[in-house]
Amino acid sequence: MSNAIRNVLVINAGSSSLKFMLFDMKTERMLAKGQVERIGIGGSLFTFSTEGFSEKQSPCEAPDHAAAIQLACGALTDPTKGGCLKSFSDIDAVGHRIVHGGERYSQPVLLTPEALAEIAKLSPLAPLHNPGALQGIKGCEQVLPGVPHVGIFDTAFHQTMPEESYLYSVPRELHERLGVRKYGFHGTSHKFVTLRTAELLNKPLDELNIISCHLGNGSSITAVKGGKCFDTSMGMTPLAGVTMGTRSGDIDPAVVLYLLKNGYSADDVDRLLNKQSGMMALAGSSDMRDVCAACDEGKPAALLGLARLIHSYAMYIGGYAALLGHVDALILTGGIGENSWETRKALLTSLSGLGITLDEEANRTCRGVERVISGKDSAIPAIIVPTNEELMIARETFALVCD
Ligand code: AMP
Repeated sequence: MSNAIRNVLVINAGSSSLKFMLFDMKTERMLAKGQVERIGIGGSLFTFSTEGFSEKQSPCEAPDHAAAIQLACGALTDPTKGGCLKSFSDIDAVGHRIVHGGERYSQPVLLTPEALAEIAKLSPLAPLHNPGALQGIKGCEQVLPGVPHVGIFDTAFHQTMPEESYLYSVPRELHERLGVRKYGFHGTSHKFVTLRTAELLNKPLDELNIISCHLGNGSSITAVKGGKCFDTSMGMTPLAGVTMGTRSGDIDPAVVLYLLKNGYSADDVDRLLNKQSGMMALAGSSDMRDVCAACDEGKPAALLGLARLIHSYAMYIGGYAALLGHVDALILTGGIGENSWETRKALLTSLSGLGITLDEEANRTCRGVERVISGKDSAIPAIIVPTNEELMIARETFALVCD
């Protein structure tokens, strides 16, 4: 392993935003983080903080992604802003989050011109995400030439799914010609908590069976068998699976046809199912803090929304428990999994059929830290494992460039 590699910059770029975090990989400490918003659309904003300097936001000029990364690197090398690097050359490697790696990428990849061309070809599968990531990579390569750039894919962890998990029951031609199949998302998060759970349970990874629940604004539940993804709730896109903040999750696909035949355009249906459904539609807010507060007040829409949400989680967890046979742990992570004790209480209570019990006090007082929240008599331990996707990207980048 090379001693020369130390500082890894993690980039998560969208079409008009760029988030970054800098890690010292000797200690895995996060040294600085920030974001540039409204890239290329005027009124750009730059946010930056470090260990010693609290978050500051200021207007900035960011006509493109290269300008955004220039701002980020400028702050990282400016001692008056808390920047801890002497020069841009102190950045040893860059890890880029890329949403869709299709069937091509099951591992991190060095972003050569050939790899970038392959990722561009996958854009039709993730039209809202991959083009933004590519803009981020190109901007970053302009500002940091000669530094290894690595792509880490949200879909990669799920590439171990067997055919019976990832194939839809449709003509094979749709898969072969158009790539229609389940890919799954949040893979970096599911991988992070899987590795951490193996450590926590002191179990060899290849013997570990867990159900990993990444519950946030977007949510997915993954069955992990022998340390590898066996099935996951999201599909060809992140719209499938459980009820989410603004996404419908699973619906009868004929609903889409019915709407198209009744005056809705394809864009209308896209907006309806991705932005105006889920808890937003059922309970009036996509934020579980609002929904839980409204449940406390006995508001019927919020109570129904929560019931539907828990129902959808329990269906996947129960199904995956059946598929796995033996489950070592139920893992909760993401904004809701880590923080919303009311949602966790409702979920664990609904899983009594699997012999899962709740430690009321451990659950109620837990926010964002590792903790077992099931009772001592629980058939399966339920454990909160805070995720850290950025650190996972930094680790995978470091591992690839040090190989
Ligand atoms: P994420 O997409 O992972 O950032 O998660 C966002 C979701 O987590 C939203 O529904 C928030 O309401 C929920 N969340 C975040 N923090 C808390 C908190 N302290 N208590 C309850 N829910 C929270």
